Amino acid sequence: SLTIGIVGLPNVGKSTMFNALTRNNVLAENYPFATIEPNTGIVPLPDDRLPILAKLVHTEKIVPATVTFVDIAGIVKGASEGEGLGNKFLANIREADAICEVVRAFEDDDIVHVNGKVDPADDIDTINTELILADLQTIENALPKLEKDLRGRKIEPAYMDAVKEAKTILETGETIDKAAREGRFDKESVYDLHLMSAKPFIYVFNVDDSELQNKELQAKLAASVAPAPAIFLNAQFEADLTELDEDDAREMLADAGLEESGLDQLARVGYDTLGLSTFLTAGEKEVRAWQIHKGYTAPQAAGVIHTDFEKGFIKADIVSYDDFVAAEGSMAKIKEEGKLRQEGRDYVMQDGDIVEFKFNV
Ligand code: GDP
Repeated sequence: SLTIGIVGLPNVGKSTMFNALTRNNVLAENYPFATIEPNTGIVPLPDDRLPILAKLVHTEKIVPATVTFVDIAGIVKGASEGEGLGNKFLANIREADAICEVVRAFEDDDIVHVNGKVDPADDIDTINTELILADLQTIENALPKLEKDLRGRKIEPAYMDAVKEAKTILETGETIDKAAREGRFDKESVYDLHLMSAKPFIYVFNVDDSELQNKELQAKLAASVAPAPAIFLNAQFEADLTELDEDDAREMLADAGLEESGLDQLARVGYDTLGLSTFLTAGEKEVRAWQIHKGYTAPQAAGVIHTDFEKGFIKADIVSYDDFVAAEGSMAKIKEEGKLRQEGRDYVMQDGDIVEFKFNV
């Protein structure tokens, strides 16, 4: 499954946040939730639709989609040269599908900052520079063979151009993700180099709890990483939230003027960043959110439930979530109003489709 690697300088609140993430099941008591390995946390994707559906179809069982986070050991200056845990660190990042960069924006004289001062822009620069240097090394290593392949016409000149363009971007100190998000570079063109800075970035700013409502500060920090998404949370506040039961957690959020916890935001943004989307099944047995890639067709989605469903796919009976709720879950009413769609092999799944697949066994 797809994973999001959590990176950041030491002492920025990564462990505090990660530990809270792996305990973040207070709002989802009967959600299956697990920690496979000590550094891997599988967290439920918050989805308000599921309890509403469960009520309509009279089931207690809800199975949410999940997002997987991997806590990657702290990075330091020089990691790209194997400094500290450098090599292991880079290997772990290579395996992740997206990068969640935790940045310290909280002040606390008791907690030492590795660079001596709290400076979010400087911290981001330190980390991204290591990833960029490692990517430049990857390209340098690949170039001699690519030059040879180009002469031997084993690769297209356009491919070589793309590699050189990636190199130029990295040399200006920019991540490939940024250039791609700004529409200046097609990162798929160099997909096979597996550049680390080409992975989608999410920035998490660990701010003082007194700054959770400081829109001015947040806008400034968000602008510094745009167009990548930015999330603002206080790691300690999030950790405290996970200690509470659902009602108390909601109250604590409301007192802080927040509608949603930072971790829930992170799960949602992470899910979206990974390019994932959800279709739903709703029956007496359970209500379930199934995770698919955006753009999956109906047979591909069926294959997520069972490979036989994909092989024997006939059609999909689909009603949108909104139509299902409007009809209070009555299939008779849904059919009567012509809201049940029969979709074939080429149908591209939409987020929130409630589906029943018809298939041959
Ligand atoms: P890591 O090295 O990035 O994993 O950082 P930790 O999660 O271990 O946090 C380092 C120290 O900072 C610990 O003493 C935490 O209790 C503290 N800390 C983490 N988040 C916050 C925060 O939001 N505010 C304050 N004041 N301290 C924090």
